[in-house]
Amino acid sequence: SGIVAVVGRPNVGKSTLFNRFTESRKAIVNDVAGVTRDRNYGKVEWNGREFSIIDTGGYVDGSDDIFEDEIRRQVHLAIEESDVILFVVNVEDGITELDNGVAELLRKSNKEFVLVVNKVDNNKRSLDATEFYSLGLGEYYCISSINGSGTGDLLDEVVNKLPEEIPVEDEDLPKLAFVGRPNVGKSSTVNILLDENRNIVTDMAGTTRDSISTRFSKFGHDFIMVDTAGLRKKRNVNEDVEFYSTLRSVRTIENSDVCILIIDATRGVEAQDVSIFNLIQRNRKGLVVMVNKWDLIENKDTNTINEFKERIHRRFAPFVDIPIIFTSAVTKQRIIKVLEEAMIVYERRTTRIATSKINDVMLPVIEAYPPPAYKGKYIKIKYGMQLPTHAPTFAFYCNLPQYIKDPYKRYIENKFRENFELTGVPIQIFFRKK
Ligand code: GDP
Repeated sequence: SGIVAVVGRPNVGKSTLFNRFTESRKAIVNDVAGVTRDRNYGKVEWNGREFSIIDTGGYVDGSDDIFEDEIRRQVHLAIEESDVILFVVNVEDGITELDNGVAELLRKSNKEFVLVVNKVDNNKRSLDATEFYSLGLGEYYCISSINGSGTGDLLDEVVNKLPEEIPVEDEDLPKLAFVGRPNVGKSSTVNILLDENRNIVTDMAGTTRDSISTRFSKFGHDFIMVDTAGLRKKRNVNEDVEFYSTLRSVRTIENSDVCILIIDATRGVEAQDVSIFNLIQRNRKGLVVMVNKWDLIENKDTNTINEFKERIHRRFAPFVDIPIIFTSAVTKQRIIKVLEEAMIVYERRTTRIATSKINDVMLPVIEAYPPPAYKGKYIKIKYGMQLPTHAPTFAFYCNLPQYIKDPYKRYIENKFRENFELTGVPIQIFFRKK
């Protein structure tokens, strides 16, 4: 894994490049049904390596003069938080002042970066591109995001610059991550859990330079809490920048098995909560939702809880089979319950379901409501099994998989959830040719 940030002026072609990269993955692995494609975040697979890509362009809005400051700020954050920066320039425009500014920031940093000259659609333009040597960034890659030329070499170079993966020690312990918008109570929660463990906690280097994980114990179980460094010490960057918290969340989510998504009860479910939820789902990590600051909600009764749960379900649909716990980090109410639930989700996510069990349950379900015929062709599903992947993935073998549509896939997923314990666990179901 690793995080690649795409930076550059507006309209140089960042999002076209982003789409090209993320679609190359989409062709290999179907996206999880029902998850909206995020225009800022995607996963890319190339030569057996996988990385996350973040298009900073999606985070900028405002007038032209806001742009300049905002872009500089994003480059700063990208230098701090990502592993590789793709600096995109446009051969049609040549070098602009802002390009020079970004180049200077990159030269001063010791961050890995790749200079990408976009819109090189023909030979004449590849001659024009030589001008970009004067940015002082060395070699550059010429591409055309529109027709795809050069993107293979570029991907080779990006993968080449990704950091080596250092496996976390005690790889088999549950790795938990607390994620959420700024100020929802992540640090408070982490500090409660770690302070109670003062004598047991041990810090260990994570998979990347700046992500420290901490090992601790609770009710007889050992856990690893991911990315505690960012939460225990005061941060020196403005965390309110959504781009920054997304980078931070991506890093944390990727390193975990189960994510605890904290929502602020006084604010309800906001857009940023939904985008972090989508990150968790797309990385297919276990999930527990923790509605924090419940102490601040007045006049609560059982209805208050149900109403809040319904709001969460509406925003997170169709994936609503999730544990939701109402907590207070101030009174320490139900924080331990969250941990217990996370442990249960971890167990569910790692338990494999036997092929015979899957077929005993699912074949009658399929027989009762088979996939609708397509243009008079009958679709016959023969059997299913769990694949040997990390996150639960199931394959059903059939004659005409390409004709099985999303509503039917959802029906199968719902039946899976009714019959097997999968609350809090995103699953993937493929239909394959026998
Ligand atoms: P983070 O940015 O997500 O790490 O959030 P913090 O843990 O720093 O908390 C932000 C603010 O919310 C602090 O002032 C906390 O004291 C407060 N806070 C956190 N959890 C709770 C809670 O359960 N109830 C109340 N009333 N305040 C909380």
